Amino acid sequence: MALPTSLELQIVTPDRLILQEQVDEVEIPGSEGYFGVLPGHTPMLASLAAGELWYRKGQERTYLAIVFGFAEVLPDRVTILARLAERAEDIDVERAEAARRRAEERLAHAKGDVDYERARLALMKSMTRLQVSSRIGVGPRTGGMKRLRNQS
Ligand code: ATP
Repeated sequence: MALPTSLELQIVTPDRLILQEQVDEVEIPGSEGYFGVLPGHTPMLASLAAGELWYRKGQERTYLAIVFGFAEVLPDRVTILARLAERAEDIDVERAEAARRRAEERLAHAKGDVDYERARLALMKSMTRLQVSSRIGVGPRTGGMKRLRNQS
């Protein structure tokens, strides 16, 4: 049987369908690390971290911020069920900067584990948003700040 030549990428949040497109490649922020998917990939399920997801159509990459959820990978389809998913162009940089400063302040003065964990999560989300929004207008890249999950 012929291998599929593209992937149908669907990204869904509890609110809405964020994206549905035919793409050539996807990189996903899995909770065990980033992983790439090409057409014909072995079926798998993965849980997601907070991080950036990109997909490629031809030479062009598009970036989204993803916060937690699950990915289902099939040979011709990738479905992302995310708690939050935001396209780079929809991210308000000033708001994310303010959230980052607030989270850093709270981390520094956290009273107890719950406070600390909430601040850590807010910091991860804000840094993911800042990272993804910085991709706008930048050509293809492969490096960059990748792992935000364990940041404290
Ligand atoms: P903040 O502290 O700035 O409110 P947050 O991380 O607490 O941010 P969330 O609870 O994650 O915000 O998200 C609430 C809603 O606001 C979601 O719809 C999310 O997409 C949106 N949102 C939060 N921050 C931003 C941002 N910087 N740019 C665009 N949308 C954002």
